[in-house]
Amino acid sequence: MEKAETPLQHVQANIAAACRIARREPEEVTLIAVSKMHPAEAIEPVLGEGQRHFGENRVQEAQGKWPALREAYPAVQLHLIGQLQSNKAEDAVALFDAIHSLDRPSLVKALGKAMDKSGQRVPCFIQVDVGEEDQKGGCPVAELPALIEQARQADIPLAGLMCLPPQDIEPAPFFAFLDKLARDHGLEGRSMGMSGDYETAIKLGATHVRVGTALFGARPAAG
Ligand SMILES: *Cc1c(COP(=O)(O)O)cnc(C)c1O
Repeated sequence: MEKAETPLQHVQANIAAACRIARREPEEVTLIAVSKMHPAEAIEPVLGEGQRHFGENRVQEAQGKWPALREAYPAVQLHLIGQLQSNKAEDAVALFDAIHSLDRPSLVKALGKAMDKSGQRVPCFIQVDVGEEDQKGGCPVAELPALIEQARQADIPLAGLMCLPPQDIEPAPFFAFLDKLARDHGLEGRSMGMSGDYETAIKLGATHVRVGTALFGARPAAG
């Protein structure tokens, strides 16, 4: 009998299949395992399987969970995927290896200052509000060129663009749009695609997919 496939193996196989269809190399796509709201005991087996990129959406939660896990697995790369308050910029720069939610001038200022102070320059993705939804954060499309310029002036390394398309409608047009915006601005990274749509995102150029539920199961309810 064959050994049952783990969720990580399943997602990896789907990524490889999507890459084959898109004629891309699997190495072009970084799987970010979104471990927000899951305890260390749920994360450890996935670390044990070799996964090294993880995503969290809250600075404080990550500060509680990751220092100990990192001691055991020093090659871990932590991605901040949730909205960031300017007063947490220093903490975020100290803890994360990439920030996917840069979306406004005040945060450019705060992150630039935090990076100057720490001497660490953390690659950032600009989150773009592709669905024109206020509540999720993200830079309005019309303000993207100015924000890119401000980030460059502040010496913030720009890894690419990120989006979180509106729920319950076909995401493909939004992924294609983000891909085009990234191309227009000469940015390499496209952080797009979650559990329900990462294969679609890969076919449309995703370089980073952020997958939580498909790896860890449903998130525990907020306590
Ligand atoms: C929670 C979250 C994800 C992962 O969502 P799943 O549907 O559980 O895969 C991806 N990106 C962001 C920004 C998130 O907040």
